[in-house]
Amino acid sequence: MNREDLADTLENIALLLELKGENPFKVRAYRAGAETVMHYPGDIVEMAKDGELEGIKGIGDALQQKLHELASTGKLEYWEKLRAEFPETIFELFDIQGVGPKKVKALYEELGIDSIASLKAACEKGEVAGLSGFGKKSEEKIMEAIAFRETNADRFRLGDVADPAHRILESLKSHPDCLRAEVGGSFRRGKETVHDLDFLVATKNPQALMDHFVAMEGVKDVIAHGKTKSSVRLDNGLQCDLRAVANDEWACALMYFTGSKEHNVVIRGRANDRGYTLNEYRLALKEGSEAKAPPKFADEKDLYDFLGLDYIPPELRENGGEIEAAESGDLPRLIELENLRGTFHNHTTESDGRNTLEEMADAARDLGLQYLGIADHSKSSFQANGLDEERLRSQIEAIRKLNAGYEDEGENFRLFAGNEVDILKDGSLDFDADLMGKLDYVVASVHNVMTLSEKEMTKRLIKAIESPQVTMLGHLTGRLLLQREPYAVNVPAIIDACAETGTWIELNCNPWRLDMDWRWWKLAREKGVKCVINPDAHRTENLQFLWYGIKIARKGWLTRDDVMNCLPLDEISEALAWKRENA
Ligand SMILES: [Zn+2]
Ligand SMILES: [Zn+2]
Repeated sequence: MNREDLADTLENIALLLELKGENPFKVRAYRAGAETVMHYPGDIVEMAKDGELEGIKGIGDALQQKLHELASTGKLEYWEKLRAEFPETIFELFDIQGVGPKKVKALYEELGIDSIASLKAACEKGEVAGLSGFGKKSEEKIMEAIAFRETNADRFRLGDVADPAHRILESLKSHPDCLRAEVGGSFRRGKETVHDLDFLVATKNPQALMDHFVAMEGVKDVIAHGKTKSSVRLDNGLQCDLRAVANDEWACALMYFTGSKEHNVVIRGRANDRGYTLNEYRLALKEGSEAKAPPKFADEKDLYDFLGLDYIPPELRENGGEIEAAESGDLPRLIELENLRGTFHNHTTESDGRNTLEEMADAARDLGLQYLGIADHSKSSFQANGLDEERLRSQIEAIRKLNAGYEDEGENFRLFAGNEVDILKDGSLDFDADLMGKLDYVVASVHNVMTLSEKEMTKRLIKAIESPQVTMLGHLTGRLLLQREPYAVNVPAIIDACAETGTWIELNCNPWRLDMDWRWWKLAREKGVKCVINPDAHRTENLQFLWYGIKIARKGWLTRDDVMNCLPLDEISEALAWKRENA
């Protein structure tokens, strides 16, 4: 049980009580309790375990006792009973974009809708449009959201599979019969969403690894359990496949199972042209071929080398020019996590973040970063508790003060005072030039009115890009992976405008976004547009998102020279000052 588990349970209780039509004060008490649990400065989980919550404002007697039960036993009888009153499928409805608790309540009460299936059926009959507070338009929106969900039903975000991927990989590697192990497939290539995880092991005892794999913690179903191939489904629905090969088959197998298909087709053609056949296990002489006998390959690098190519990092294997570049020795030296020196787009409790300025700063220092930029929301993002002019001014003060402290201590760490300034509907910005001039930098982002035509949206963004105070463009397309499509925007035109004005483009590496998409970075790089890898952190742990950012940046062919936050503190300070002076 961690802080979030506690808060989520209270939040869910509030939801179901609301559905039951319980006293609104009671509902509010649970919701407020969830808030308090999330923001309480002390170790509230320990305190709940020890039954020491008395006197905390916002947590009354009833909640104290429930939190104690939950934290000390991992279960809550009240919650189990409450949820048993509802079909399990009702929770699906909360995942549909644009359907909040109020709407779920109306659907449930008026039409008896308790699952996505029944919601879809009601929409098809036009019943939802007839409900008060809905209408034809919101029925259409719900239908779209359901269709979107259906097309993406069996896909997972990179951020949802990274933990299981690493955990399973470690588990395989720890087996005494495992010689080598790797995750292949689209995960290894750094795709933003994946369908499944493909594991590969080299071993002399495949059966032992198969038995180990199907018995791992977190396995819900065993789909297949063979001698050299097995498939399982994890608790979260993710399918994982394991393939075992002999150690001297490793190189060919890893390349094969990493893909992409398109990359492999060209590589096989290349082997073929040289008198060989290449399959998932080995490279062999073609019948009647006069080529020299192939050696045993220790790893993928040897295999690429034998085919006259530089080693191609997995992220580039999409047949997007990497084979030509590997042949001519022109592959870029891709960025690595260790190259990052700081990051810019991060929130604190001042807007909708979960940690204070000081906590965020300490977390960044713990990670060994030299700088952290604070970019809380601006006033128009009122739903995210955006800052008005006065609060922004005092945040700038607070940041300057902390910096003076670091300076006194002789620490090589600084905070930068920024803001995630809303781009308004007409492309103007949420703060005036004077106030923005007091900031170290500005991230400009769209958070509302996302349904403009492509032409209008592009015009809106370009107007913001042309504002001299804007340092970088935040989450360019507003997409939420597997949940919300990007809004319509002409990306090449945006890249051109950024090239023209020297505006940086963010690679927002929150795993829900990974925006700008990796497919555009090669173009941006060719145009000389700089990238900034930002986690859009709303809590200290989110700084770990930088790992996804690096994966996607590599996929976009970026090197350390293309990414501004690889610059050390003194050079980034100069770059920011230069941008401000030339604004
Ligand atoms: Zn944002
Ligand atoms: Zn943000």
